[in-house]
Amino acid sequence: MKITIVYDNEVKSENLKGGWGFSSLIEIPNIPPILFDTGADSHTLLHNMKVLGIDARRIGIIVISHAHGDHTGGLRGILEVNKETEIYVPASFGGAIPGRKVTTVTEPLQISKKVFSTGELKGIEQSLAMKTDKGILVVVGCSHPGVGEIIDAASKFGKVYGVIGGFHGFRDFNRLSGLSLIVPCHCTQYKSEILELFPQQCVRCGAGLVLEQ
Ligand SMILES: [Zn+2]
Ligand SMILES: [Zn+2]
Repeated sequence: MKITIVYDNEVKSENLKGGWGFSSLIEIPNIPPILFDTGADSHTLLHNMKVLGIDARRIGIIVISHAHGDHTGGLRGILEVNKETEIYVPASFGGAIPGRKVTTVTEPLQISKKVFSTGELKGIEQSLAMKTDKGILVVVGCSHPGVGEIIDAASKFGKVYGVIGGFHGFRDFNRLSGLSLIVPCHCTQYKSEILELFPQQCVRCGAGLVLEQ
């Protein structure tokens, strides 16, 4: 399984564009890639995909974590390029996407081989729980329900070993001890504290980061 950060506040290479938002691509052998969130704007998203060698037309499923613009802003642009993709949105997303198969998520469910949604937590946001050989890897958008709550919800699929994404104002740092992979991205307010507390477990986030799990 390969996870690529496509859109983030920071970049890993000068060729990529940064912006306030988040998007990541999940690639599992033999199934079409899954795009989790779309960043704040199509231009940056599609530019970064091009630089990273990601063919937007091949994406089979788009999952939107929550309805905030820094996660949904690139959706329109990608749907113009990709006419086939299915979409999973939390119930709070609202609004229709004409001509597309859209699944509205409230309860936990399986999205594809090895990939599950936590369900919409606290009426705002869903996260991904992915089954790997190491256990469950969680990918989050902004963590509005709370990182601890999301880890608890993802734990029903197995033992969580890693979390990637925006942690927002999360500061209950004890909840991260025991994890072997911590990648605080995007809106994480206490990023420098987390990187300092868990230097062995942390990977610095940025568009262009590729993690093989
Ligand atoms: Zn948000
Ligand atoms: Zn956000």
